[in-house]
Amino acid sequence: MKLLSDQLKVKRGLAGLGLFTNKIIAREEYILEYTGEVITEEEANRRGGKYLFTLNEKYVIDGKGRSNIARYINHSCKPNCYAELSHDEKQVFFRAEREIDSDEELTCDYGEVYFEDIIKPIGCRCSECSR
Ligand SMILES: [Zn+2]
Repeated sequence: MKLLSDQLKVKRGLAGLGLFTNKIIAREEYILEYTGEVITEEEANRRGGKYLFTLNEKYVIDGKGRSNIARYINHSCKPNCYAELSHDEKQVFFRAEREIDSDEELTCDYGEVYFEDIIKPIGCRCSECSR
């Protein structure tokens, strides 16, 4: 699968560092993979950290590694990307929810649990909420 990882750059956005695209991305295009060590839910609870991506009820990706630039994708209440699980449920890919402009920040919806527990208490800083 052809991904766009080398067309992306990390820079300062609305909510701290964010991930931006250098080129126009078509709707539904595959953008990049959320990479890291696949660990059990139990191990994830033991480690903690901000970059845990839940695959299913058993496994989690620990995406804290520097090469995992997908960890810079910030939450938005009106995102331009979404996460898709591979059929074997071992990989996560981000795809474009709509056409994305060159130099636009990539965002996805972190989901209800993360939003309620982590974002809501400090206030959401996405473009929808801060306008
Ligand atoms: Zn928001």
